[in-house]
Amino acid sequence: MRIILLGAPGAGKGTLATAIKAKLGVLHISTGDLLREELKNKTPLGLEAKKFIEAGTLVPDSLVIQLIENKLAASDIVKGYMLDGFPRNKAQAEALDAMMTKRQQPVDIALYLEASLPVVLQRLTGRRVCRACGAVFHLTNMPPRQAGVCDACGGELYQRTDDNEETIKKRMDVFLDTTRPMIEYYRAQNKLVTVNADQESTEVVKAALKLFS
Ligand code: AMP
Repeated sequence: MRIILLGAPGAGKGTLATAIKAKLGVLHISTGDLLREELKNKTPLGLEAKKFIEAGTLVPDSLVIQLIENKLAASDIVKGYMLDGFPRNKAQAEALDAMMTKRQQPVDIALYLEASLPVVLQRLTGRRVCRACGAVFHLTNMPPRQAGVCDACGGELYQRTDDNEETIKKRMDVFLDTTRPMIEYYRAQNKLVTVNADQESTEVVKAALKLFS
C-alpha cells in the first residue's frame, strides 16, 4: 500500500502513521523527522533548513525532494510507503508523481485528516516529544506516567521549538495557503479519502485503519 498523509500540523498524522506502520509494515517517511535529524546532526542540509523550521515556513523544495530521494534510494519499499508531511505544495506533489511513476510505485491513497483550528492549537501547544525514541505525548490528552519522562523508553520529553503559539500560527497559514490545495490535487486523481480528525486520536486511528482491512 502506498499512502500519503495530509493534514494540518497537529491533525494527528504522526500518531496515525505509527498505527498504520504497525498494521501494514510500510516504510514511514516523515520529512519533518528527517529534517530534525539533519538539524540534530548539524549537517549542511540541517543548518540550511534550521531558519525555515524555526520560522514555521517551508524548507526549499529542492532540499526536501533530495531528502526523499535519498531515503527512497536507501530503503526497502516492497510493502509500500507512507509519506507524512510530504508533499506540502504542488511542486513537491509533481516531483513525487514523477519519482514514483519512474519507480512504477504510484500513490494509492491520500488520507486527509481534517481537523479544526482550535483543536490543532490545543494539541500542538500541549505536545511533548521523546528526545530518544520520538514517541509523542500530550500534557492533558495523553500525559506520560511520570512528568517529563517517556513511558516507552524512559527518554526525556521536550517541547519542539516550533510548537509555540507564534510559530504554530505561521505553520497554520502555510498549511491553509499552500498545503490545503493538495487536497484538490489528490481528489482530481480519485485518491482522496477524508477522516474526521477532531475526534479523539483512538477514534481517528480506528476510522482510518478500517480503510486498510
Ligand atoms: P512537521 O514535523 O511535518 O510539522 O514539519 C516541521 C517543519 O519542517 C515544517 O514547519 C517545515 O519548516 C519543515 N518541513 C517538513 N516537511 C516539509 C516539506 N515537505 N516541505 C517543506 N518544509 C517541510
